[in-house]
Amino acid sequence: MTAGKFALGCDVGATKVSVSVTGTPGVIDDRIVDMTHRMKRPSDLVLEVSANIDRLLERNKLNISDCVGLGIAFAGFVRSAEGVVVAAPNLEGWNDTPLGDMLAKKLGIPVTIDNDANVGAMGEFRYGGLTEGRDFLYVTLSTGIGAGIIINGKPYEGANHVAGEIGHTTVVADGPKCNCGKSGCLETVSSGLAVERIANDRLAGEETSLRNRAREREGRVDARIVFEEARKGDMLSMEIVDNACRYLGMALSNAVMLLSVSSVIIGGGMANEGEYLRKKVEHYMRKHIGKGPNEQTELHISAKPTGVVDLGALELAFERHGDRNLAPDRNSLASMQTKPRFKK
Ligand SMILES: [Zn+2]
Repeated sequence: MTAGKFALGCDVGATKVSVSVTGTPGVIDDRIVDMTHRMKRPSDLVLEVSANIDRLLERNKLNISDCVGLGIAFAGFVRSAEGVVVAAPNLEGWNDTPLGDMLAKKLGIPVTIDNDANVGAMGEFRYGGLTEGRDFLYVTLSTGIGAGIIINGKPYEGANHVAGEIGHTTVVADGPKCNCGKSGCLETVSSGLAVERIANDRLAGEETSLRNRAREREGRVDARIVFEEARKGDMLSMEIVDNACRYLGMALSNAVMLLSVSSVIIGGGMANEGEYLRKKVEHYMRKHIGKGPNEQTELHISAKPTGVVDLGALELAFERHGDRNLAPDRNSLASMQTKPRFKK
């Protein structure tokens, strides 16, 4: 092993946290995924991440000194330059948390943190299905909803450093209350959490196969089960899924009209619903885009919905803390055409 040639990555979502390690950009050598993470406080998360990194290094016969740094993808508002989590609507007790410093102190290596959708967008850009194209929107559809905007081959972060918060754009005037404090955000009608909440609120009062599924699972269903039953033709599940896709399609059409990107790519846990999800969202996206040049914008499901954020987090570590030569040659981007090519 050559010292300082490995990178560590970490993806902190609302319901899972993963740590990964690699010696090669674009490849995950090994990964530990913990699905028990729900509503963890910052100090507990630091202990968990460092313990899992220790396990990961040990089983790969590496030391922390073999690693250039740690890149973190975090599901929340993040000030990347300062390593601070400003707020995390789907996690309690995280406002103004210096997570970067906390982990750097604990691990003894440099740490860079960014929003999970931005990290996912970079992972998708470098290692996903998009082989050409310099302007696209990467949407993470999971417990919450976020987006990373790539303009001219670079992430766009905006003057306030939180561009891409599509999950907290308003789609229903005076709609359901959102965890961010507002009402009617896209997250309240289209996210995994929203699908779960709506299904559990309604299943008792309607004729639906969701009730049987709930009985098997301590009285509750999650978004994955709602999609499963919708595919089988359960009317309530179909209505809930269709409604979620309708609002998502509408929000994406607004983003496309504003940015005129060549592609929108859906990643995150719900992207595992694949073509079934894509077709429904595309129907509504096209309806609201209407006629005109933006009809050319393509909608895709991420080629690696569960790995692209980990790849992006590892890339973040290489890019910010490693030998620049380790990163793939980006000069080739300059010759890219505007038209995207997406390989599945
Ligand atoms: Zn919100």
